[in-house]
Amino acid sequence: MPGSLLLHGRRGVGKQRLALWLAQMQLCTGESAPCGTCQSCRYATELTHPDLYWFFPVLSAEIRDFEPDETLAYMRGAMRDRAKEGGLWAPTSGSEGIFVSMSRALVRAAVRTPAMGRRKIMILGDADRLISQEGNDSPANALLKLLEEPLPDTTLILTTSEPGALLPTIRSRVVSVRVAPLASDELRRWAEADDVRAKIGQADPAVLERASGAPGSLLAGTAHDVAASHAALWLKALRGDAGDRFVAVLSEKPAGARGAFSDALDALEGTLHDRLRLAVETDRTHAARLTRAQDAIEGARERASHNVNPALITAELLRELRLVGVNA
Ligand SMILES: [Zn+2]
Repeated sequence: MPGSLLLHGRRGVGKQRLALWLAQMQLCTGESAPCGTCQSCRYATELTHPDLYWFFPVLSAEIRDFEPDETLAYMRGAMRDRAKEGGLWAPTSGSEGIFVSMSRALVRAAVRTPAMGRRKIMILGDADRLISQEGNDSPANALLKLLEEPLPDTTLILTTSEPGALLPTIRSRVVSVRVAPLASDELRRWAEADDVRAKIGQADPAVLERASGAPGSLLAGTAHDVAASHAALWLKALRGDAGDRFVAVLSEKPAGARGAFSDALDALEGTLHDRLRLAVETDRTHAARLTRAQDAIEGARERASHNVNPALITAELLRELRLVGVNA
């Protein structure tokens, strides 16, 4: 494991879940980590392990002016709440962020000696939600210091669905790993588990298909349906003529609805990813096209995170997708 890791990939694909599993693996004291039965594993799965820190976006009113110790205690409570939900939480809403009090607390915790084991694992979920602020006191700056002078007994795992929104200085100091969407049968098995069914009810095949490999999107409510129909409009435009593409570009909302636009990109990526899985076995040429299409979507996501006008991004994306031949 590298000392600093960045897990990136679609929203709801399970990046923070994977980070928690990696944390458990590192903290485990059993034979084949993660054994699931040792004390460390138990504490890690209950999210009460003293050497496991998990920061994720919260509402500003709750935490903004807290001292580091208060913040740590607050996040401990938030972790316990998520553990109670069985690890099935709704995606971050637009009004939640990672505030300077949180990155100060993270730095404070990082210099502590591990309480139980040999290392500390610190997870920063949705790291693109670091609230940008000018000056040395910005949350990103505190984090940068930690990345510049890594501590030998600390593993830092960041996750993001918008790597383009992270500072280049942060991206250049972490090892990036892309987390791929789940295959449809994996997603189905997940949705059929008792705890998941208790939370979201019986998911019919159409709903599972719309989730396109991102289990978390099934916990998101209607936002996901909106994203799926948005992506469907793009695909229709790709199959159609110049007029259809014109309509698709013109129907984009002006900048400002970044979250919704990124969700639509996620939905498009999921759909094309499913096609890619099929094509890898049946049609190599088409598979190569679909791989290039994923790059085009990645580029669009990067532009979206820099607040480029969604209509412009859509026009460029549709052009690139046609160039690689995805409409075929
Ligand atoms: Zn264990």
